[in-house]
Amino acid sequence: MDFDLNEELQAIQQAAREFAEKEVAPTVDKDDREHRYRKDLVQKMGELGFFGCVIPEEYEGTDSGFVSLVVITEELARIHSSLRVAMNMQIGPARTIVEYGNEEQKKRFVPKIVTAEWISCFAITEPDAGSDVAAMRTRATLEGDHYVLNGSKTWISNAQVADVALVYAYTDPGKKHHGMSAFMVEMHQPGVSSKPLTEKLGSNASPTGELFFDNCKVPKENLIGKEGEGFKICMAELNHTRLSCGAGAVGVARACREASVSYANQRVQFGQKIGEFQMIQDMIAQMVVQEDAARLLLYRAGTLKDQGRPNNLETSIAKYYAGEVVAYSSDCALKIYGAYGYSKDYPVERYFRDSRSYQIVEGSANIQKLIIAQDALGYRKANR
Ligand SMILES: Cc1cc2nc3c(=O)[nH]c(=O)nc-3n(C[C@H](O)[C@H](O)[C@H](O)COP(=O)(O)OP(=O)(O)OC[C@H]3O[C@@H](n4cnc5c(N)ncnc54)[C@H](O)[C@@H]3O)c2cc1C
Repeated sequence: MDFDLNEELQAIQQAAREFAEKEVAPTVDKDDREHRYRKDLVQKMGELGFFGCVIPEEYEGTDSGFVSLVVITEELARIHSSLRVAMNMQIGPARTIVEYGNEEQKKRFVPKIVTAEWISCFAITEPDAGSDVAAMRTRATLEGDHYVLNGSKTWISNAQVADVALVYAYTDPGKKHHGMSAFMVEMHQPGVSSKPLTEKLGSNASPTGELFFDNCKVPKENLIGKEGEGFKICMAELNHTRLSCGAGAVGVARACREASVSYANQRVQFGQKIGEFQMIQDMIAQMVVQEDAARLLLYRAGTLKDQGRPNNLETSIAKYYAGEVVAYSSDCALKIYGAYGYSKDYPVERYFRDSRSYQIVEGSANIQKLIIAQDALGYRKANR
């Protein structure tokens, strides 16, 4: 399984596995049932350097690379899918500032996000702008030394717990994709409010909410990149968070496969272990193959990122496939567990609920297929 991981990556994998098994697993069911956001665990992840893996050392990162991001995220999601969301919420903004921010912004924001002293989030989605990011309505108008931000965002992970947010808004709506800009917004200030969303299907320990900006003043110095670069920056951010999202999917798929193998070796029907039935073996075989294939696709995309080579296509392929794999594996796990899969006494119902997010977030399955097919057909090259 650990194909080609070097010693450094193996050590990182071991650290993430130990953390997940020793510190997350004991309370995972309770946290899920009670919808508890575990800031203490997120801060511990910061202390362990998980959020710094794609951040240079000068900003408190470890710079261990994108493959390590895949490795860490898989280990966390294997135990609790909600923690892979925490990874993306810190890494998305921090890495984006490293790539597009100026030196002052990197020093001001990145170390605090990487260490989880500040909880962060990124806010793209709006009630009428999901896959169609350019349909967003949030506006930022320059008035002297600050922008005035107005609008609302929805489905924002960490909305109600974040200290800072990377917010996308139009500075010049007439220019469409070239009129959007990216801002770091400090959340504890007048003009910013949040509201939790009603209960979700899964990812219960990851808070999700709406954000409202009502004449919120954002200093000019908090513009990330240049005015009009927001759409480009947003796509670059999603290209990275897509990778760790895929890794989360593989982590949950692995949990499904491990639980299924264990149960199929215990449950006896018709005088034999159900694992001895070929129809169960068919599901197990497919789970093993698909999990392996998804992981290798993620390693390829991560390796390309680490080498600084174009990777949009490979990242979309990996994210799309991992989302399909976790949906399939969680479906199989539920079938293999029979009635017990339908019970809250076993974790597979949680895996099933958590699995459904992976075909929606960070660009839906259809959006990934659009990118992949348009590239194949020559209509729009993904790696430009
Ligand atoms: C748990 C969770 C956490 C989230 N966290 C965040 C966050 O932190 N920040 C953030 O900004 N957003 C977040 N989101 C929002 C998420 O990014 C959006 O849900 C996603 O972009 C899809 O948008 P939508 O739900 O509006 O679906 P829609 O865009 O309305 O899509 C509905 C359906 O139509 C399909 N579709 C849409 N366009 C096309 C097309 N061109 N071709 C073919 N099919 C199409 C989609 O694939 C989907 O099947 C989160 C969502 C969830 C569920």
